Amino acid sequence: MKYELKQHFQIESARFLPNLPSTHPCARMHGHSFKIVLTLLGDLDTKVGWVMDYNEISFAMKALLIEIDHRVLNEVPGLENPTSELLAKWIYDRMIKKIPILKNVTIAETSATECRYPA
Ligand SMILES: [Zn+2]
Repeated sequence: MKYELKQHFQIESARFLPNLPSTHPCARMHGHSFKIVLTLLGDLDTKVGWVMDYNEISFAMKALLIEIDHRVLNEVPGLENPTSELLAKWIYDRMIKKIPILKNVTIAETSATECRYPA
């Protein structure tokens, strides 16, 4: 049986969504405290008694978080249209190379919304 691990991160970032009509509030520059959750699915390392060291996950995320925390997301290459959907995919596509057991990335731009990729 597999284990599921989750690790939470948070960034404060600005963005606007350029493909929306100018009358839409999200077309204007605004900020979010984005909550990012990485979900991993893996086997237990029976010797150590865990799936993966949480410190290793933090370390793998460090460089990526520097690129997007306290930034205008639209200025980050690949995030010109930084919807939660595209941000989740952007993070997943990078992190899967470092963490092969990454199952998905969840982005919450408010306390009432969540987007997961891949579903
Ligand atoms: Zn927004």
